[in-house]
Amino acid sequence: MTLPGEPIESPCTLCADAPRQILSARDRRGAPLLTAICRRCGLVSHADIPTEEALRAFYAQRYRAEYHGEVTPSPKRVRRAWRQGERLLARLGPRLAPGARVHEFGAGIGCTVKVFERAGFDATGVEPGLGFQRFAEARLRARVRCATLDEPAADDHPADLGLLVHVIEHLRDPVASLETIRDRLAPDGLLYVECPNLEAPFARFGRMFHEAHIYNFTAATLDAAAAVAGLSLAEPMSGPRDENLARLYRPAAPAAVEDAIDPGAYARTTHAVRRLNVVTYHLRPRYLRTRARKIGERATEAATARRWLARLERAVAADAAPG
Ligand SMILES: [Zn+2]
Repeated sequence: MTLPGEPIESPCTLCADAPRQILSARDRRGAPLLTAICRRCGLVSHADIPTEEALRAFYAQRYRAEYHGEVTPSPKRVRRAWRQGERLLARLGPRLAPGARVHEFGAGIGCTVKVFERAGFDATGVEPGLGFQRFAEARLRARVRCATLDEPAADDHPADLGLLVHVIEHLRDPVASLETIRDRLAPDGLLYVECPNLEAPFARFGRMFHEAHIYNFTAATLDAAAAVAGLSLAEPMSGPRDENLARLYRPAAPAAVEDAIDPGAYARTTHAVRRLNVVTYHLRPRYLRTRARKIGERATEAATARRWLARLERAVAADAAPG
């Protein structure tokens, strides 16, 4: 049995030879999952990064378990994703020139790509999950290709804005993926990255660690990974208390690891993680208010989402019709 605090052998993705130790031995459901922290840079990840093959098997199995072979997301799920796209458009659209090229890496069911397209941007995306990609293309008529993040197509033009939203925490090698993405940005382009914030005051430590989330970033470790990959912080778009990190980066010369890492990150992260537990999480007022609101929202959503999706599909079909 490996316990929190125990040193482990496997290397840190950022600083290969630095000592790491176990931060948690359980996932959010209480199942065994070893999560480790690097004592040098504070990067938190699975103790053992899964192989490409193991990751593929995990997603194939998860896909079967969660969707029972169905490739069509529910109308509620589509509407939530659409609202997320509208939120991103409101946040990022005003920074873009009319018709700017927007590309989403890991586009899911294509809602964000379609929202940007309908706002007048040249919006495309890639999505490796075939079921999601098919939904994006066939139902939303969004320009989403079925491909991994690392497979550039011949017709891909450099993006004025890249989007990487709740994707980076799932990747085996985020630095390598960020390097690939950086090479697909225009020289004055921007990359927006959003992912869970491990350091948020109410990040639920007991429920944070998840087999699908290979990495658990803080602002410091995400910025360090980005800097090593040649992306410098243009603007932090989230505060330290926010549940999600939201950061805007621009291409820059890649930084050396020793220059990119924040020496205080390890201490801050271990402190943030240890003061939390499941009890404080569930008793906090914001959590209870959010839960109550979510339960109410879900009941309403179930009643109206199907009609909403039918209207949206008619609208995108009308957009696509000639004349
Ligand atoms: Zn490290």
